[in-house]
Amino acid sequence: MRSFACLVITISILSITSCQPKATATTPLKTETEEDESATLVPPRLFDIAWDDRSPFSPGLIDSEQGALNQLAGASIYHIDLQIADDLIHLNGQEEVRYTNQETEPLEEVYFRLFPNLFNGAMVIQSVEVNHQDVNPSYELFRSAMRVPLSPALQPGENVVISIAFSARVPMEGGGGYGIFIFDDDILTLAHFYPMIAVYDDEGWNLEIPPDFGDVTYVDSSFYIIQITAPSAVTIIASGIESDRQMIDNQQQITYAGGPMRDFYLAASSRYAVVSEKIGETTVNSYAPAEFSEGAETVLGYAVDALQIYSDRFGVYPFTEFDVVSTPTQALGIEYPGIVVIALIMYDLENCIYPPSYLESTVAHEVGHQWFYSVIGNDQLDEPWLDEAVVQYATLLYWQDLYGSSGAASFRQSLEDRWARVDKADIPIGMPVRSYSGVEYGAIVYGRGPLFVEALENTMGQETFNNFLHDYYETYKWGIATTDSFKQLAESECQCDLTELFSEWVYEK
Ligand SMILES: [Zn+2]
Repeated sequence: MRSFACLVITISILSITSCQPKATATTPLKTETEEDESATLVPPRLFDIAWDDRSPFSPGLIDSEQGALNQLAGASIYHIDLQIADDLIHLNGQEEVRYTNQETEPLEEVYFRLFPNLFNGAMVIQSVEVNHQDVNPSYELFRSAMRVPLSPALQPGENVVISIAFSARVPMEGGGGYGIFIFDDDILTLAHFYPMIAVYDDEGWNLEIPPDFGDVTYVDSSFYIIQITAPSAVTIIASGIESDRQMIDNQQQITYAGGPMRDFYLAASSRYAVVSEKIGETTVNSYAPAEFSEGAETVLGYAVDALQIYSDRFGVYPFTEFDVVSTPTQALGIEYPGIVVIALIMYDLENCIYPPSYLESTVAHEVGHQWFYSVIGNDQLDEPWLDEAVVQYATLLYWQDLYGSSGAASFRQSLEDRWARVDKADIPIGMPVRSYSGVEYGAIVYGRGPLFVEALENTMGQETFNNFLHDYYETYKWGIATTDSFKQLAESECQCDLTELFSEWVYEK
């Protein structure tokens, strides 16, 4: 246990909530067929690597998780070449993604999300090709969704390669509700910067404009090879692991490989310094501007403790790298695959307007999202309790395991206090983000929600509940859980009917 010093009762977490590929092939390949003696020109591929070669992702997974490379046969594979201009504001990108129809019906289109167009950043699509044939996309939802037509329709099990040339301008203010796509304070943060394939589920293509608060994405597990060319003076922090680095014309060119992951996040700044620690097979890196080295060390300690506690509690963290990076976000913290961001304002330990426990709880909360959001996916807009409420409960376990019952009691009181912001109204925790007011969302999903998980633990019994969390992690690893699947697995674990409990806490009335 670490000595328990200065936990305050009111803890507020406004979390909204991230082979060696060679350089771009430049020589067009020629193929000849017996039917056609004239040579057919095949456009160059973005990277000289076979779509089904999963070896680049192997170093990013710990030994026991290598099996993931043989699963997810139909997962999307993104190859992206991103150029970051000297001003750190102008982006140019080439994206090739192989998309497989994993549904049971033919698809006449694929939808991509263009989130920068919701974040004050202008994203422009220069061209779209399907299997190297030009197509005309159409745009919806304030150009944040792009429909790419498929003709003929893509049959179940078939795949296509979609190539997109895009550019974007990064705003210097705004940048989404929490400043997640922005160049501010000499720090570039690029959340959801590339055309991202939407999820096709029981609603069809699942598309909506995210509310001003809460998370914005809902994404399937995918694989990413991303080559970034950027000014040499900046340190780049990204999802996945670095697999290649070279200098070209005074620019750095770094290639990252990551997967399975639901997104690819990156931040860049000339201000960053790093401190690191290894835990098991995972290297944990904590990045902050050099003047906040004490804050970076403190955050590193919290992150290592949280990774250990959750690995013991739920199942092991699957990646060989985990990054925590300070950014000027207006949220206290935000989660991405393999990486979380923590608000820069909290790294100034002596002058911080927040008490130290805020920083610790925020780090513990965001680390918890690696299990609930990143590995186990969910519709963060329609069923936010599945990650946020469960992660708040995980944070309670962090305090319990590290500081004992007094630490847990103080954090638990903070949950009660949150719920009290709406006079402990019995508003269901299982509603979509858009169905809550801003105050209700924080009070219910982050306050009442974890108290439901605690009630579930009490109903199931501690040992059964612990087994359930382990099984839940293994069952939905890299997949997507729903409220129904969560309940069904819990019921099969406890051999009991939890309908009444879910009606009291979760379901919309
Ligand atoms: Zn969260």
